[in-house]
Amino acid sequence: MSTRDSTRLYCSICKRRVKGFKNRSGLQRYETLKHVSYNTLPSHIQPVSESELSHLKKAIIKELQKRLKNHHTAVGKQVFSIHCSEDAFVGIFRNHITRYSPCGSSYLCIFKGEKAFDEVGKVLDDKNWGERNYGGG
Ligand SMILES: [Zn+2]
Repeated sequence: MSTRDSTRLYCSICKRRVKGFKNRSGLQRYETLKHVSYNTLPSHIQPVSESELSHLKKAIIKELQKRLKNHHTAVGKQVFSIHCSEDAFVGIFRNHITRYSPCGSSYLCIFKGEKAFDEVGKVLDDKNWGERNYGGG
């Protein structure tokens, strides 16, 4: 087990590298299956200044509000993207990351249920970031 086939991809979460994958999608599938609740943050994350974070929070709120305005009858998932560094993203959502995927370099944060509105408000430092009655979603 000490020999690693360099043509294969290995799961970076597993301590014992038992199985290699031929391609990234294979590894990603495996990760989703086996490590769906893995949320240890990667060690390369650097702290980001408060001022940069608050700037970004405002940008996120703006984007969210635009979404809500355009889709006020739409309940459910809304997608938008915003430019920011990984460090800044983690700086803001650090305590809310449900899953980190080393293979996909992606993070998952879920806000749902009764408290979700207030939680998002707390994360973004703005209690009035949106209107409460968007179907509770
Ligand atoms: Zn693994």
